[in-house]
Amino acid sequence: MVSSYFLYPLSDEGEQIVRQQGSLENLFLEDKDLMDLVIHTKSQNISNDSYIPKSLAEYTLKRVEWYVRKKYDKEYEHNDYAFLLNPELEIYDVISFYIAAQSIGINFNPNSRESRVFIESQGQLIQERLETLSKTLREETIAKLLNQLIAADNLHWTSLAELLGSKKINLSHLIIDKGQIILDKKDFLDRFEHKIEDRIPEKMYDILIGDKIKELIVNRMIMQNTENYISKVHEMVSNVEAHPSLIQIGAKISKTLTENYSYSSNQGGDIKASKFQVEAFPPCIQNTMDGVSAGNRNDAIVLLMTSFLSYARLYPSVFKNKADLKISDLDKGLKITTTEILPLIYEAAQNCNPPLFEDDPQEKLNITAKLGFGVHETPELDKEGESKWYTPMSCEKIKIHLPVLCQPDENCKKIGNPLSYYNLKKWLMKQSMTNQQTENTKKSEGN
Ligand code: SF4
Repeated sequence: MVSSYFLYPLSDEGEQIVRQQGSLENLFLEDKDLMDLVIHTKSQNISNDSYIPKSLAEYTLKRVEWYVRKKYDKEYEHNDYAFLLNPELEIYDVISFYIAAQSIGINFNPNSRESRVFIESQGQLIQERLETLSKTLREETIAKLLNQLIAADNLHWTSLAELLGSKKINLSHLIIDKGQIILDKKDFLDRFEHKIEDRIPEKMYDILIGDKIKELIVNRMIMQNTENYISKVHEMVSNVEAHPSLIQIGAKISKTLTENYSYSSNQGGDIKASKFQVEAFPPCIQNTMDGVSAGNRNDAIVLLMTSFLSYARLYPSVFKNKADLKISDLDKGLKITTTEILPLIYEAAQNCNPPLFEDDPQEKLNITAKLGFGVHETPELDKEGESKWYTPMSCEKIKIHLPVLCQPDENCKKIGNPLSYYNLKKWLMKQSMTNQQTENTKKSEGN
């Protein structure tokens, strides 16, 4: 049986291990036992020294690096991180979980990319560790964890309110009868067997619930508890002095993410994020910049401009990479957002007839919401995630909802979204400049 704390470090056993063995004094010291266990993990790649964590601090960073590389790096190799699935490392693993969670809680807000990536990585680790178990062992482990996570035998759907609220679980995943979430096979058969016709009730249970729903609940509850733990640490940090090692680890986690996010945000050839090139804006955006009259004004600024400008400046490759990022993943302190993006949106709003905020100041809050920071006057990091960062409208939608702004030119024939137009036009402008330079060089060589 795999220890439950290898999957759920916040369990009572996990907490006890950390209390007894989780000293922060030797965090950066080389640990021969740790290295030995990593090196002797089945399939572990040891061809390069950098694959082997040499201290608990390095192990902690590897946990985060693994997840980001797995998600975004096309050259990711599982065997570079095989040790993360080795239960012989469970003590190191549980301690590293607390080190990472506390470092993140101390250094970053609960909505930060650091928190988000760590919580997601824990969910992914649970899933992959479960996949290494035999069917029977996997069922036993899930049953044990479910017991620890849910106190009552009968699970009322409201007890998952937190998971439903944070969208970690969708109501459509669950079978609910009279308010109770049905997980047990016997319970399912007692309630529904007589109603099922032309199908085998046991098979219906396996299809609708089976092990997968129990695993989903366990996984998401552990993720939720991890999130709550980080929030608790974050709240406490103003009252207690943080250990310098945890501050140091927090900075290293952030650096690890920044380095590895380059796999997602900088791949895309000519569609790297760069300063605005207003000359490359498509006609619909140029028209909006010039000012829109009442009727189209609100949608043009709040829906079209806000999403276009924020993605054009920070994440022009969104449709190519498809990675789900937040603004702070790309603009950590929101400097670009507040000094480059918002001023341009507000300028377009001012150019409207009548100026948008003069008779509709509420729309400033809606702009903040469309950037992913909830309904507030300005974007603030601790509010990020309260709403969704809207991706740019497609040409099709603009033609339906804001037809007056769409005055297509030649380049519009090749694209389906104003952002794709912007990327294409930037590339064409760059090509034309390169051709011009080559031409000039030839001419000067001829003289
Ligand atoms: S076709 Fe698309 S990019 Fe071109 S003007 Fe119309 S909406 Fe804008």
